[in-house]
Amino acid sequence: MTTVFLKKGRDHSVRNHHPWIFSGAIDRLEGEVAPGETVLVRDAAGKALGLGAYSPTSQIRIRMWTFDPEAKLNDVFIAHALHNAIHARDRLIKGDATSAFRVVNAEADLLPGVIIDRYADWYVGQFTTVGAEFWKKQIVATLMELWPARGFYERSDAESRKYEGLSEASGVLAGEEPPELVEIEENGCRYLVDVRNGHKTGFYLDQRDNRATVAAYAAGRDVLNVFSYTGGFGVAALAGGAKSVTNIDISAQALALAKRNFALNKLPDTAEFVEGNAFEVLRKYRDSRRTFNLIILDPPKFADNKNRVMGALRGYKDLNLLAMKLLAPNGYLATFSCSGLVTPDLFRKVVGEAAVDSGRDFQIVRRFQQSFDHPESVFFPEGLYLKGLLCYNFG
Ligand code: SAH
Repeated sequence: MTTVFLKKGRDHSVRNHHPWIFSGAIDRLEGEVAPGETVLVRDAAGKALGLGAYSPTSQIRIRMWTFDPEAKLNDVFIAHALHNAIHARDRLIKGDATSAFRVVNAEADLLPGVIIDRYADWYVGQFTTVGAEFWKKQIVATLMELWPARGFYERSDAESRKYEGLSEASGVLAGEEPPELVEIEENGCRYLVDVRNGHKTGFYLDQRDNRATVAAYAAGRDVLNVFSYTGGFGVAALAGGAKSVTNIDISAQALALAKRNFALNKLPDTAEFVEGNAFEVLRKYRDSRRTFNLIILDPPKFADNKNRVMGALRGYKDLNLLAMKLLAPNGYLATFSCSGLVTPDLFRKVVGEAAVDSGRDFQIVRRFQQSFDHPESVFFPEGLYLKGLLCYNFG
């Protein structure tokens, strides 16, 4: 097997089981390697540290499959990883209230670059690295065998594939073509998911646990669901007994599906759908003194690289300040950030700054993170990207 030697003193993170090796840590390559093939990683003194997938074009040159240098990368290895991933979701698979969740969460499930979600009878997968691409056929075939589905649809249309020298790819990889909209159930609510064109693989499955938590605070409240997408939090809140739900999103397409999702659940007809830029709509509500007593802020990622973090923090502060001003006394604000580069501490600080400027008192009653089927590897803190706070305003 081709061997990669690390530079002296650059083996610290691999020894700590961090799965990424950056190009700057590599001293030399002995042998030939095709993109995505497995290499043996050794430190400068020649000690073997594990096996990884080699990506010649990416700054992240190697993604580790295993820290056991004696392991073999083959169909048994893949089957073992998939088996573990399925086993870890046992309580969702066996339960009957939820039919959609993440089955494989990349690094945290020891399969870097592999994201696979299950929507009722269908898998939707993203293969984001050349190592994942290399093993794609094997992964799809094995998963279909271990836990069969009607079909496996690929959504490898993330732009980041270009850093790996890969073009975008989508389509059926196994079984049948999924329907235009797949119906799923989540904690007793039903949703239609557009697995071909929807965001990510179609639905924000990472917010499932948080939708349930927020819904438990919704009874009797007028809810403002900002960045509603296809209605996730709004449907859950109304099913939880909310008095009304106002959904805001900039995408007409997302709102059209949100309307269908509210209708599908046969809920009281108290939902409103507002198409527009959230910042502008919130300012308008502030100026007209409109208030709500549960506000959900779940914006898109504001920072996708280090240079954008300062701008993102300003955005989060503006948004949270606006929302705090719309909150009626004794109201709740559920506020989220899915920018991995904004740490939970940083996010808490920004929300605190917004609270100071709002001139009102808040307490944090809960902290949120991504649902448990999107686990974070203990060796890879970068895997925690979604964080949130449930803030309560004293009257
Ligand atoms: N809470 C949702 C997911 C939100 S994703 C759920 O649980 O399913 C973020 C959403 O923000 C997307 O639907 C996107 O269309 C919307 N969006 C992005 N920029 C926006 C803006 N400036 N104003 C309003 N909506 C915006």
